[in-house]
Amino acid sequence: MKILVIPGDGIGQEVTIYGKKVLSKIAQKFGHPISFEEGIMGHVAIEATGNPLPDETLEKAKKSDAILFGAIGHAKYDNDPSAKVRPEQGLLKIRKELGLYANLRPIKLFDELLEASSIKPEVLRGADILFFRELTGDVYFGKKERTDGGNTASDLMVYSKYEVERIAEKAFLAARNRRKKLCSVDKANVLESSRLWRETVQEMAKKFPDIEVEHMFVDNAAMQLIKDPKKFDVIVTGNLFGDILTDEASQIAGSMGMLASASIGDKVGFYEPIHGSAHDIAGKGIANPLASILSVALMLDISFNLKNEAAVVINAVDKVLKEGYRTRDIASEATLINKILTTSEMGEAVLSKI
Ligand code: NAD
Repeated sequence: MKILVIPGDGIGQEVTIYGKKVLSKIAQKFGHPISFEEGIMGHVAIEATGNPLPDETLEKAKKSDAILFGAIGHAKYDNDPSAKVRPEQGLLKIRKELGLYANLRPIKLFDELLEASSIKPEVLRGADILFFRELTGDVYFGKKERTDGGNTASDLMVYSKYEVERIAEKAFLAARNRRKKLCSVDKANVLESSRLWRETVQEMAKKFPDIEVEHMFVDNAAMQLIKDPKKFDVIVTGNLFGDILTDEASQIAGSMGMLASASIGDKVGFYEPIHGSAHDIAGKGIANPLASILSVALMLDISFNLKNEAAVVINAVDKVLKEGYRTRDIASEATLINKILTTSEMGEAVLSKI
């Protein structure tokens, strides 16, 4: 296993250490040969080279089997929309260069965290959703322009049929190994690109007669997700809608600090927590490392087909939570003070269970 580790910025630096340690320990326990390289991206890379994705990092990425990424972002760019060179350009470029067109986000609540969400436990219990968010099209990559002397702006929402087909197929196949339900989310009542999306998914559905398919408008999906998350199995949607709905769905899992994601295409897999660099808590040693650790479980499962090893990681997280240990973001009022752990204590606690 040739792994490139890109910790990135802010808490990315703090949590990725533990993702890497967990991966090392699994490789050692199960006798899998593993080698690590490190790369820079984001604000740290801009500071070091002027480029948010230096060529050297991209070259290493192309030669690796899988990438473990932390997060990018720095407060100085958030407050300066006119900055021409920005950390997120690095992330968008690496997704494009590696052809990472499908972003998978499993949303499943550990029972111990039912109280940590702002949604009622009885609504959440049993929810288990797998999102497929398209990642290399839509308004993120369509033409952007300012006209009217800068006073009018537009971002083109654009999709081609093959882009919808390739992610829809992956989503149908995943549904086949789960509860055989697929919900495709769009805004086909208003958007032409959504009408193409819907037509394409409808055509593909003919090849998967065993899958129950539902089409839902994004506004309704946003409401249904909170009202009755259990009704969903696999959800497939475009880049912008997926961005918003998966953050909303993070509340179903209790916290941003618990959610991992996998970006896949035809070759290298890219694994990362869904959270950002969290300037508000960076450097304080309190970030939750579990999303990075769970990203490793996804990597073992998807890139290396090591299902048993992935389950060992998830079970280790489960055991630590069952013993009552929490980082601050997932602590409920009932959590005892001496069970609230720092980033490193939580990382070590999980390692001790592997
Ligand atoms: P964020 O995900 O960084 O943080 C949102 C909130 O969740 C914050 O209150 C933060 O403290 C909390 N949080 C997030 N991860 C946590 C963890 N592991 N443990 C405990 N608490 C956690 O989103 P934001 O505040 O909107 O953005 C901060 C920066 O991150 C921005 O510069 C943004 O551009 C960047 N960002 C990067 C990515 C990425 O790298 N994929 C994703 C989103 C945002």
